[in-house]
Amino acid sequence: MEPDSLHDTSVLPAARPAWRARLALAVVALLLLAASLLLWQKLVTIERTHANERVAAQARLLTRQLEGSLTTQAQDLYRLAELWNHHGRLNQDEWALEARFSLQHFRGYQAIQWADADLRLRWILPIEGNEAALNFQLTPAHPNYLLAMQAKTQGKAVFSNSFDLVQGGRGFALYTPLYVMNDQGQRVFDGFVQGIFRVQTLMDELLDTVDSAGFNVRLLEFGRPLYSREQADFSAGLQQELPLHLLNNRNFTLQLNPTRKLAQELSSPLPWVVLGAGLTTTLLLVAALALAMENARRASALLASNSRLNQEVSSRELIEQVLRESRERLQLVVDLTDSSRDGLFIIDPHNRNILHMNKATYSSLGYSEEEFRQRLQEQPESLLLGFHAWVELVRQAQGDNQGKIFQREMRRRNGSIQPAEISAQLVQVNGHEYLIGVSRDNNERLQLEAQLQHLSQRDGLTGLYNRRFFDHQLHSEWRRLQRMGAPMSLLMLDVDHFKRYNDQLGHLAGDDALRKVAAALQGCLLRDGDAVCRYGGEEFAVILANTDEQGAEMIAARIHQALAELQLPHPGSPLSRLSASIGLSTVTPNRDSHPDSLVAHSDQALYQAKHQGRNCTCVWTTT
Ligand code: GH3
Ligand code: MG
Ligand code: MG
Repeated sequence: MEPDSLHDTSVLPAARPAWRARLALAVVALLLLAASLLLWQKLVTIERTHANERVAAQARLLTRQLEGSLTTQAQDLYRLAELWNHHGRLNQDEWALEARFSLQHFRGYQAIQWADADLRLRWILPIEGNEAALNFQLTPAHPNYLLAMQAKTQGKAVFSNSFDLVQGGRGFALYTPLYVMNDQGQRVFDGFVQGIFRVQTLMDELLDTVDSAGFNVRLLEFGRPLYSREQADFSAGLQQELPLHLLNNRNFTLQLNPTRKLAQELSSPLPWVVLGAGLTTTLLLVAALALAMENARRASALLASNSRLNQEVSSRELIEQVLRESRERLQLVVDLTDSSRDGLFIIDPHNRNILHMNKATYSSLGYSEEEFRQRLQEQPESLLLGFHAWVELVRQAQGDNQGKIFQREMRRRNGSIQPAEISAQLVQVNGHEYLIGVSRDNNERLQLEAQLQHLSQRDGLTGLYNRRFFDHQLHSEWRRLQRMGAPMSLLMLDVDHFKRYNDQLGHLAGDDALRKVAAALQGCLLRDGDAVCRYGGEEFAVILANTDEQGAEMIAARIHQALAELQLPHPGSPLSRLSASIGLSTVTPNRDSHPDSLVAHSDQALYQAKHQGRNCTCVWTTT
């Protein structure tokens, strides 16, 4: 849970500023883009205006050049007219000479011709191609008639509008009036020297004389197209319309469209350069800002990550310190347990894995740690005798809330058995059961206890069981035989005239005699359950379990026999040797009887034996 929450708190707040920054960046990018486009738009407009101005200037120049060129060409005719006017009518040859000169000089002419005062054509050069015009007379019906009259009246050359040539096609005429002196010395009209131009030829020729390659040219007359010369490279933009004064005729307009090449030459790439630079700058700036933002974001993420790392490091250091301290404490505990002579162990009772054990657990039995582990795994019963039953006992004791110290036996590595006092407890940790045990080698204590018990049960002088043991044994055998329904006999034995023995042979001899009697009694017993006890003074009691009266009498007889064989001299006895009297009683214990009665009966029988003369056995009977 904790790492997730850490993750959430570190990422979510950072995401919001990043989103805002991106929006700001997009706005900046759009503003810069808009500014670039605006600047480009302005520059395009300015550039277009400049280009227009340059084109207009070029167009004006072209127009002036065309006008100038035509004026220059017209000078030949003016000169011819001057000659005529000053020197009188030229003869045809002189005229032809001049006219030919002009024709050669300027190819724009269709013809140079002279019309007389009746406006009839007289001379025409060249005649080829202009035959149709020979003898043509300009009549008032002709569109040029009024112009011609105007030229005649004003005495100035007039350039006509376009008209249909008699030779075919459209053309212009330049009417230059001629005058001669008559006989009265008066200046009289003598016709016109006329320059005839084909529209197409004239314009082609004029345009050839000037540099018009940069324009598509159209000649308009009264706004209507009359002539055009289109270049291959056409441009619709930047069109210019300028009035073209063909000599003194102002009815023409020149429509000029610059070619794309010229437009390009005249225009500047500045707007596109500026737009490109603007877009590039915008891109670079946005990229730089984005990079800076990304760097800032990474730096902030790095900072957050560092901070988290530092927290993690401190937290780990803390954990490590706690772990170290915990390990040290654990080591102390382990050292402590290792220094203990008691075995301490924690095992899984199901698979017998050892979670922990101190050194005493295995070394006291002569095993290495690994040997102990392996043996517990593979042969638990041979290591701890009755292992599985013991675990069940522990579980049962835990359930019954009884004492949890068990006396068990463990097998040493050399095969010998070691008694062990094991304090055991089952604990549940995370739903798993463990057995915690403290074992102690209590061999010495058991021996001591056994010794103490032995001492407490024995008589100091004879080594036989003492009176306390007699009482205990009598009762326990009584209960056992009661359960079995088997008989029990008790012999009460008293040394005869022992007071005298002491008196005559000394107390030490008396003690010695008692020891010998005890040994003899001991030698008479055959079964394990039989017990000879020193009942008190020179009195002995023999418990004969599961022995009937007949069997008991046999034992009593054997005792008499053994004492006789001892041949202990007794100066105070009629037999001159040590003897004893025996009282015998037999009973099959039941619920109504009591062991004390058995003692009392044997005692009575003994009393009777004494009365009967000693060195005999009396059997207690109910009669
Ligand atoms: P009786 O045949 O009727 O049994 O005669 P008695 O002398 O044996 O009986 P009594 O009860 O009068 O005397 C018992 C004697 O046993 C008295 C005592 O000096 C002696 N006696 C008891 N205990 C010991 C003992 O531990 N050592 C020695 N040396 N003598 C003991
Ligand atoms: Mg006695
Ligand atoms: Mg006695």
